[in-house]
Amino acid sequence: MSVWLSILVQTPAHSSLGPLLTYRSSVHLASGTLVRVPLGKRETLGVVWNDSDDNAAGEIADNKVREITGVLDTVTPLGPAWQQLVRFAAQYYQRSLGEVALAALPPQLRDLTPQQMQRRCLRTQRAAARAPEPPDASSGLSTPQSPGRVLTEEQAKVVEQIAHSAGPHLLFGATGSGKTEVYLHCVESLLTQDPSAQALVMVPEINLTPQLEARFRARFAPLLGAQAVVSLHSGMTNPQRLAAWLAAHHGSARIVLGTRMAVFASMPSLKLIVVDEEHDPSYKSSEGARYSARDLAVYRGKLQGAKVLLGSATPSLESWYHSRPAAEGGRYLRLHMPARVGASAQSLPQVRRVDMNHQPRNAVFSLPLLQAIRERVARGEQSMVFLNRRGYAPVLHCADCGWKSECAHCSAFRVFHKVDRTLRCHHCGFTERVPRACPGCGNVDITPMGRGTEQIEEQLGALLDDIRRPDSISETFPEGEPVRVARIDADTTRLKGSLQAQLAAVHAGDVDVLVGTQMIAKGHDFRRITLVAAVNPDGALFSSDFRAPERLFSLLLQAAGRAGRDAALGENSEVWIQTFQPAHPLYAALKQYDYPSFANRQLLERAQAGMPPFSFQALVRAEARSQAAAQAFLTAAAAVARDEMPTWEGWAEVVSQVTLYSAVPMSTARVANVERAQMVVESLSRSALQAFLSGWQPVLHATRSQPQCKGVIRWAIDVDPLAI
Ligand code: ADP
Ligand code: ZN
Ligand code: ZN
Repeated sequence: MSVWLSILVQTPAHSSLGPLLTYRSSVHLASGTLVRVPLGKRETLGVVWNDSDDNAAGEIADNKVREITGVLDTVTPLGPAWQQLVRFAAQYYQRSLGEVALAALPPQLRDLTPQQMQRRCLRTQRAAARAPEPPDASSGLSTPQSPGRVLTEEQAKVVEQIAHSAGPHLLFGATGSGKTEVYLHCVESLLTQDPSAQALVMVPEINLTPQLEARFRARFAPLLGAQAVVSLHSGMTNPQRLAAWLAAHHGSARIVLGTRMAVFASMPSLKLIVVDEEHDPSYKSSEGARYSARDLAVYRGKLQGAKVLLGSATPSLESWYHSRPAAEGGRYLRLHMPARVGASAQSLPQVRRVDMNHQPRNAVFSLPLLQAIRERVARGEQSMVFLNRRGYAPVLHCADCGWKSECAHCSAFRVFHKVDRTLRCHHCGFTERVPRACPGCGNVDITPMGRGTEQIEEQLGALLDDIRRPDSISETFPEGEPVRVARIDADTTRLKGSLQAQLAAVHAGDVDVLVGTQMIAKGHDFRRITLVAAVNPDGALFSSDFRAPERLFSLLLQAAGRAGRDAALGENSEVWIQTFQPAHPLYAALKQYDYPSFANRQLLERAQAGMPPFSFQALVRAEARSQAAAQAFLTAAAAVARDEMPTWEGWAEVVSQVTLYSAVPMSTARVANVERAQMVVESLSRSALQAFLSGWQPVLHATRSQPQCKGVIRWAIDVDPLAI
């Protein structure tokens, strides 16, 4: 006897097969069971998907149905909640179910046979049995004396509110207000009350927030045992990821700490989801299914009955808007913690704006800023200078003939890196030695235009050359040690472990001035930094991207949060902004640390312009051999949407609620010799947009095979895009 099963597999992109295929099995298998199945000439991982909503395509002749080759029966079947999460994500982000589901599983699962899987499971079980019991295992978790801190009144009130309302909650708390302590407390009280409950704690980038992970481990490993806390992020090896995933899936991991991918971790007893720094753009995936882990977390919380706690000092405008008073339609509960506590309790650093209109032209450092940095160095304190552009200069140029260091393969300039004297394209990676003379006219005097972190580092070194570190006279340095300027950006941290090493040097006090990109503005707890400077942040004020001001404000506020963490040094802490727009409302709000006034103003502008969160957007991107082909594809698909779709039965209403804008080149139109175009689709109704996209997808597929779209290489839909 044999039964037919629908199995979800990752079919090749753009194949005519759907993601659900029919296979034969000698026994019935529960939905969610992991199996090995033949697919073409390969064998691949599949998930049994017995769901009447998603049917395997078409009729198949009995003799065409192939037999499954194995069952990974040491792994419990994936539960209905996980299946529903994956189904929702696939629908919402307009990707195939197979792609989303298989990408949500740890990569190594794809390669293991049932026998290998069994051995692995046995090994982890044995390891778990050998591990020391958590100290208090006999009486459960509830030690009366938890190692947690006594909460401040503000924290206690927030914890109370979280306990008594369903949420989702937006914890709006200043940097240093003790948000992490609130997360720890909520997790602890949940796991204490319910001995099987699990918590998911998400962070934007684990490398950038090692303190959070350390704090969770320090707090919970003694209570629950070291194996109860697992991490899940792309920096782990495949075996590590599989082990952590299995621990979460089988319930031995009580806390999963992870980056955006962790939102898909199978956690059958999930009761709490924390999304730290919920505004961070890295929660939005930029490849494959372009999902937002924060938004999926909110959906997942509802699905599994888990509480959701979003936290930030500068919430995304979406979450800010969703947490307006319930009477005005707000769906999230906003909780406010304005005061800093603990070591960082004294007032926030003072924000100082330097009017660059009154400084010498082309000065990188204004005199007062330079003076302030020199004073810090003399006192043995640290400064942090950031500029969001790596390399030495964004362009090399010849004043005689107008030659510029364009990339041969992209519509972009190659960046001058002085360290190794190269011109590097930051889009396609094309790299060449800097030419000795202008390739256009032979002029030997080609000059850098604009500046990046390498140049800042070099100039600071020169400007601080005449002073010495305090108390540093020694035999080696009879006149005292020179000032140490260090740089941290994507170029200096390419090697594994180098970021950690460089951060350690800063913490150890081996660095006086740290130069870097936004990488250094996030998360790190630098105790001895008393000055943070943004050298040239104005660009975002006039960007064509309507989210640029929001990102700038949060970046500057985050950076400000780096300064003055040490109680003894907090008094003198300052944040310096060099700007040609000193009166700009964004900087005025920043000076007051007034996120609400900034956010409300932005929301007003967005409402007037009909921008998100007051409307909903999707972006279709097309890549082609020529810009004309990319645009023709989008335009043709849009024409079908406008002219034909309204005639489909029941679709006129949906289409009428959606606006399709013109196809335009992307801001960097050509990358690696591929031309890119995009089209914005917008609606005042999220459900209308969703419905439209699901109907339009087949149109896009069909359009692609038309003759005028021959040059189209690929296309993709980005729902709720972060950058347009
Ligand atoms: P946030 O996550 O909001 O930036 P943290 O939770 O890191 O804030 O807290 C900031 C500092 O205050 C940390 O050094 C933390 O250890 C300390 N802290 C937090 N809560 C308390 C408390 N209730 N009592 C004493 N110190 C606290
Ligand atoms: Zn020239
Ligand atoms: Zn390039």
